[in-house]
Amino acid sequence: MIWLDFSMFLVMLGLFFYVFASSSITVLHRIYLLLHMVFMIWPLFQFLSQTTSLTNYKLVYLTVSYVGLSLIGVGWFVFIVFLTGQSYVIRKSRIFLLSTPAILSVASVVINPNGLFLSINDSLDKAKQLQHGPLYWFMISQLVAYMIVCVIIMMYKLHGEESVRQRTLVKTALTGILVLLLFSAGDLIMNVLLIHLLTRYIPLISVGMAFAGIYLVYAIGKNKVFDIIQTVQRDVMNTMSMGMIVLDENDIIIEVNKAIKPFIRLRIGDKFNPAVIASQFKGDTGKDFLAFFEVLRKHPLEKLEFEVALDSDRYRHFIVQSAPILNGRKILVGRLLTFQDVTELRLLVKETNIQNEQLQDRNRDLLLMQDELFQANKKLEHMAITDGLTGCFNRRYLLHQLEQEVVANIRYGIPFSIFLFDLDYFKSINDQYGHLVGDEVLCSTVDAVRSKLRLTDVLARYGGEEFTVYLPHTNREQADIIADMVMKAVEQNEVYPAIGESAISVTISMGVISIEHFEPSDLANPKAFLRELLAQADAALYEAKYSGRNRIVKRKLA
Ligand code: GH3
Ligand code: MG
Ligand code: MG
Repeated sequence: MIWLDFSMFLVMLGLFFYVFASSSITVLHRIYLLLHMVFMIWPLFQFLSQTTSLTNYKLVYLTVSYVGLSLIGVGWFVFIVFLTGQSYVIRKSRIFLLSTPAILSVASVVINPNGLFLSINDSLDKAKQLQHGPLYWFMISQLVAYMIVCVIIMMYKLHGEESVRQRTLVKTALTGILVLLLFSAGDLIMNVLLIHLLTRYIPLISVGMAFAGIYLVYAIGKNKVFDIIQTVQRDVMNTMSMGMIVLDENDIIIEVNKAIKPFIRLRIGDKFNPAVIASQFKGDTGKDFLAFFEVLRKHPLEKLEFEVALDSDRYRHFIVQSAPILNGRKILVGRLLTFQDVTELRLLVKETNIQNEQLQDRNRDLLLMQDELFQANKKLEHMAITDGLTGCFNRRYLLHQLEQEVVANIRYGIPFSIFLFDLDYFKSINDQYGHLVGDEVLCSTVDAVRSKLRLTDVLARYGGEEFTVYLPHTNREQADIIADMVMKAVEQNEVYPAIGESAISVTISMGVISIEHFEPSDLANPKAFLRELLAQADAALYEAKYSGRNRIVKRKLA
């Protein structure tokens, strides 16, 4: 039945390992717990070995306890490697190599060839029955070797580590090892080397292990080594690109993340000193920092922010923010300072502004060009409808205008009139005074005609020295009056070909048509109607010429 108890123990142990392996605890937790289990093997089986007088059982118990002891060195080693954050040392390819001494030692304990590790001599006194062979010393050496490597790693870490927290952890582990080594050495001396002088076995290693364990558990609790939240927080803080400084209520630096290190040198545990921080920056940056911290001192409960250009290896912009940390009762317990790099953002804004300005410039140019184009278009339009010499409308414009007006006039029964006039004997002026003077006479005549017309009348050059006037809303009587005035104005108009020379006067012959009544059939083909109109005007002009010039021939169309 005793095997049932033992089986149940094994079941419970299996369950423990199952829960242990499937729970979400850190690797460091697992390693520590395994190490702790290994610690527990030694005293338990040492105790069991002394509960029996049967040599065989005794040997089994002792073997198990020595297996535990053999694993302590490698256990510590792995624990230290993880504790100091150097887990990269334990790569798969190296595991075998690193654990070879321990495995060999375990093998030598279990196989115990010819009692080369341990034998029991029943004939001797109870305390002196254990005979240690050379393999025992091999085990001791591998333990010592592991411990020495552990101590070297920790000393190395202590030398280079800045974080107070990490240093505390390493110191804790180092002290644990020293306690264990001290007791182990004592045990070795008393129970192995000097056993012939003693009358009883003194379990010093067990005591050492217990002391080391107690110390470790105390230190782990005090330093919250395994506090997973703290570990996660630290990881989160260190993976953030934003620099962070956590201060307690007395402005002691509690935490600094990795992102801050390139810019500000700070030590955890130091008092946060604005003057020291400011002194790390050149020029105005330092002053800006001092001013910010001064505001902060005056308003400790406010969330404050300022932007600063850090003049380090490159020109960088940071937004520095300070936020109070309040406890549940809204009492200030600390302060969180964050440094957010906004260089890229600022560069982007700058770039966008430049592009915006360029765009605005281009827009302005475009507007100018548009305006120029508009003016040019207007000029072109004007050129397209006016006569370059006299400035009155051209024939094309007149015809186009007339087409539209005539349709409206016919539809609404609005009377209108048309003049067609030609300068008399103009050719002789050209011949006598030259073309330039002829041009001048032409222009001057046009001006004289225009002076008697109304704003709504349209004067156009019909060709050569022949002109047309369209007079909207003008019946026969009104047209006659205007025609007479025009004739007179032209007759009275004088042009001086040169200084001192006698003035030139010209006359015109004019055909006048007034349309007061319309036939609906006229609407059917306005173009033909217009052609007919102009033909009539031409005939009237011709008649005026034929009958002696300088006169008006009036026609009234239906
Ligand atoms: P009338 O009309 O009385 O029968 O005699 P005319 O001498 O005026 O005869 P006609 O109408 O045939 O001659 C027109 C002349 O006008 C011919 C041409 O040299 C001249 N002329 C036409 N356009 C211009 C112009 O723009 N400038 C100048 N200087 N002369 C022009
Ligand atoms: Mg003429
Ligand atoms: Mg003519």
